[in-house]
Amino acid sequence: MRNLQSTQLLFECSQPGRRAAVFPAADVPPQAIDEWIPCEHRAASPPPLPELTEPEVVRHFVNLSTLNMSVDTHFYPLGSCTMKYNPKRHERLAGLHGIVDLHPSQPEADVQGMLELLYTMQEMLAEIAGLPGVSLQPAAGAQGELTALLVAAAWFRSRGETRTKVLFPDSAHGTNPASAAVAGFDCVQLKSTPRGFVDLADLKTHLGSDTAVFMVTNPNTLGQFEPNMTEIAQMVHDVGGLVYIDGANMNAITGVARPGDFGGDMQHFNVHKTFTGPHGAGGPGAGPIAVRSFLTEFLPGPIVTRRERPTGGFTWHLTTPARSIGRVRSFFGNVGILVRGYCYLRTLGAAGLLAMSQNAVLNANYLLARLQDVLPVPQGDRCMHEFVASAKGLKERGVSAMDIAKRLLDFGFHAPTVYFPLVVAEAMMIEPTETESKETLDAFSDAIHAILAEDAAFLHDAPHAAPICRPDEVRAARYPILKWTAPPASPETAHAH
Ligand SMILES: *Cc1c(COP(=O)(O)O)cnc(C)c1O
Repeated sequence: MRNLQSTQLLFECSQPGRRAAVFPAADVPPQAIDEWIPCEHRAASPPPLPELTEPEVVRHFVNLSTLNMSVDTHFYPLGSCTMKYNPKRHERLAGLHGIVDLHPSQPEADVQGMLELLYTMQEMLAEIAGLPGVSLQPAAGAQGELTALLVAAAWFRSRGETRTKVLFPDSAHGTNPASAAVAGFDCVQLKSTPRGFVDLADLKTHLGSDTAVFMVTNPNTLGQFEPNMTEIAQMVHDVGGLVYIDGANMNAITGVARPGDFGGDMQHFNVHKTFTGPHGAGGPGAGPIAVRSFLTEFLPGPIVTRRERPTGGFTWHLTTPARSIGRVRSFFGNVGILVRGYCYLRTLGAAGLLAMSQNAVLNANYLLARLQDVLPVPQGDRCMHEFVASAKGLKERGVSAMDIAKRLLDFGFHAPTVYFPLVVAEAMMIEPTETESKETLDAFSDAIHAILAEDAAFLHDAPHAAPICRPDEVRAARYPILKWTAPPASPETAHAH
């Protein structure tokens, strides 16, 4: 059970006169103070800070730090987000003095090691994507989408073409249409088939000389690999459009299939997802993009290039492509996250990355098989690295996906993604990732089975062990209370102040 004190504000725990530190009496003569700090700049009374002992302050913050769930404390099957374990070795390496003490304005000659690292990262990502041109600049997947769409727009402009439409299936992540709109395109949403794939007939009716880009996540947000991917790419290319692969689901296919090989012209990586950068709570990410060779001259700069030295060996340089769309982020991108991703790629190597994807897919299929008796998966009994179960059948009992998600918190599991993608009713999108053991997956499955045997009314009030039960999330996001205001003094306490 939670310590009640941990949910109180420091102000509420305050007791007049309590101190964490005792200062010696001021030995500055009053006339000196008058001289140095004019009266009008002095506060009439001390600031109304909470009065507490050091152990009270420490307990408060340590307890607060335990109220959240994280990959370091709990199983975190948040579908689409790929909440992978963040190896601690990467943190140590990314924190080495030789890395963190660099400044991005240092001359090239001083940062050759870092430039070599970034160059190698570009090369590795190009190889994984099957697309040769890489920019490490975008700071997240969504910015990668926007950057690639701006690159595509520049390419069309350079050919004197005006193409206005970006197409995407109705299962797309919300960032796809958002990026298209910000890049100045009109958004066209396509229907999916009942199995959740791109509807070729619907795609065909929307393709034309105004088609700029078709954006698709593959495997898609339902955890299914598009069976007609090469045919889809052919259809888009036939009308002169480009294919964008949203690479958020690379955890299923890295080392197995390459977007460049199955028809993609551009893609982004989510280094903070697939390559274990710590993420969540809006922390830094990295969303490098990879593109076909004819698009490379439009990429944002700087890009790291390599030159052979006449005396042997190489030097590394920063260059801006000839017709670059310009910068999308200061300097070279979020280098701290790129370094962690680099450590991950170098640690695993090609064989390790293949095993990563295979184990991610194996774990997801194992969990799917253990859950489908109670949470059916409309897309069938096989998936890639994640699957979308539906709690629709429980509606008649009055149980919703939200009830199950909330109750899972009591069992010590972070909830899966719920109500996304929108094409599945009462969606529960579950992505276990490759590092979870069979015991953890079994425990999660057992918890869901136990929850579904519970009374609906009891589930409506879940979570029961969390400090708050069911906040109004919209209100909490729109009207956060960021400032403490003292309650009106009661008659007994009034004399103490
Ligand atoms: C996470 C995600 C994105 C956006 O990536 P960010 O790095 O969060 O900006 C885009 N598409 C899909 C399918 C995703 O899961």
